[in-house]
Amino acid sequence: MFPKNSAYNLIIVGGGLSGLAAAVSAGEQGIKTLVIEKGRTLGGDGNYVEGAMGVDSFLQKEKGIKIDPTKLLQDELNYSHYEASAPHLRKYISQSGSVIDWLHSLGVEFSKVGPQGKSWPTIHTFAGGGHAVIAKLIPQAKALGVEIVTSISAQKILQHNGHVSGLVIKNEATGQLRELTANNIILATGGYVDNPDLIKKRAPATERLLSVSDGKSTGDGMKLAWQAGAEHYQMGAIQYGGGAILDKTRPPFVHMPEQLAAAATQEAILWVNEQGERFVNEDVNDNMCHAGSALLTQSRTFSILNQETVDHLTNVGLYKEVGNSPVSPEKFEHLQEEITRDLQNGDKYLTKSDTLAELAEKLNLPNLPQTMRRYNDLVAKGTDTDFGKAPAYMTALKDGPYYAVELGIGMACAIGGIRVDNNNAVLNSYGYPLTGIYAVGNDAAGMLVGDTYAVTLPGSTAGYAVFSGRNAVQSITKTR
Ligand SMILES: Cc1cc2nc3c(=O)[nH]c(=O)nc-3n(C[C@H](O)[C@H](O)[C@H](O)COP(=O)(O)OP(=O)(O)OC[C@H]3O[C@@H](n4cnc5c(N)ncnc54)[C@H](O)[C@@H]3O)c2cc1C
Repeated sequence: MFPKNSAYNLIIVGGGLSGLAAAVSAGEQGIKTLVIEKGRTLGGDGNYVEGAMGVDSFLQKEKGIKIDPTKLLQDELNYSHYEASAPHLRKYISQSGSVIDWLHSLGVEFSKVGPQGKSWPTIHTFAGGGHAVIAKLIPQAKALGVEIVTSISAQKILQHNGHVSGLVIKNEATGQLRELTANNIILATGGYVDNPDLIKKRAPATERLLSVSDGKSTGDGMKLAWQAGAEHYQMGAIQYGGGAILDKTRPPFVHMPEQLAAAATQEAILWVNEQGERFVNEDVNDNMCHAGSALLTQSRTFSILNQETVDHLTNVGLYKEVGNSPVSPEKFEHLQEEITRDLQNGDKYLTKSDTLAELAEKLNLPNLPQTMRRYNDLVAKGTDTDFGKAPAYMTALKDGPYYAVELGIGMACAIGGIRVDNNNAVLNSYGYPLTGIYAVGNDAAGMLVGDTYAVTLPGSTAGYAVFSGRNAVQSITKTR
């Protein structure tokens, strides 16, 4: 349904995590605000978020977790090769604790705070997941007088004498267009992970990349901003979720909670490429974005298991603690069942053979037998002199039957393309703000990274979604 009014002080494009955080902030400031959401439901990928980053939050104070913000800033700038915006990252880090506190004041509960793998202890895990946060933000925004409509998308920003004058919107159900008047627009459309053309600008081998988003992050914010005169800024980074089962017949989220996926991607056993050769230390999966990058350096990638490792994972325990995965049990009790089921289904990503020679033949991995001999020798010596995998994860694969799982690369979000200033105002290519246009959340989060997403600072996009939504509203409030 079209909105009730034809004129607003602020229109927020996108009803996901950042848009709804901006909406509550705008409601708190008494700004006449409309949120338009192109989907039938609200929350976007915010519904799936595990946790948000914060420094010096109430919870960290309670737990005695202290982080030096300057050290953290230096660390992240180094990680980004100084491609991140230091002032913007600094402002975000310095306000991130109060962002967590603000969410808490709205009734959002946190189950824990700490690191994720080898990272800063910044991720505040939401009790009930992102969905619970969204469920708190929607009624609060409405209670504060914010109007929210769904199945309405933004089509074009209107400008007059260099200032925002309105927005063309479309009813997604009927296709009808309408013009609204507005003084300010916040773009909160979730980045571009679901736009294959834009992804191609950022990464090769698109057919092996699998989006785990809800499918609505199609880069609309960037396109609207570019059309209004914004700089085509660097395409930032893709948040790779490490390896993922390469299944071309089902959506990627189907495999996310499966133990076979975790065994193949998280257990650091043996990965080979299209030649059947190792190409990396498999414990690279300590950083899921590094793992994604490493997998992308090859044309095809397979995770190799044998019956002994499957039995061990099923009955004895894990070789390596599961890091960034929805499944983190002590054993993979369902692993053998899942393997049997997928083999019976004839799923193409899974191949079983009694001998290594047969597996190599079936998958055209000519060097697999010699790779395996070399790898088992290294395991016997207890040191990976080829790629430096930690000795604890050197697991021999001696006898058949063998299993090969073909791996693609999961993607949670893609950020970049728009440059903003410290108020989240969108900049033109001369570095000046486009008056009245702001970008927040994933649409602006390219400012925080270089070419690789910083899982060293876990929860950083969700924390940024909330921070930046509030930051843009604070700026709008000052200019009223
Ligand atoms: C499975 C998964 C898990 C994740 N876990 C984490 C995590 O634990 N921590 C973390 O920091 N990040 C995580 N992320 C990243 C996550 O994308 C962000 O943290 C967060 O959702 C970003 O908020 P956003 O508002 O920018 O985007 P979203 O929450 O996706 O919201 C964007 C909204 O804009 C709408 N929209 C798009 N185009 C238009 C248009 N033209 N008109 C109107 N509406 C439009 C979309 O439909 C969507 O509802 C995860 C992502 C996924 C997919």
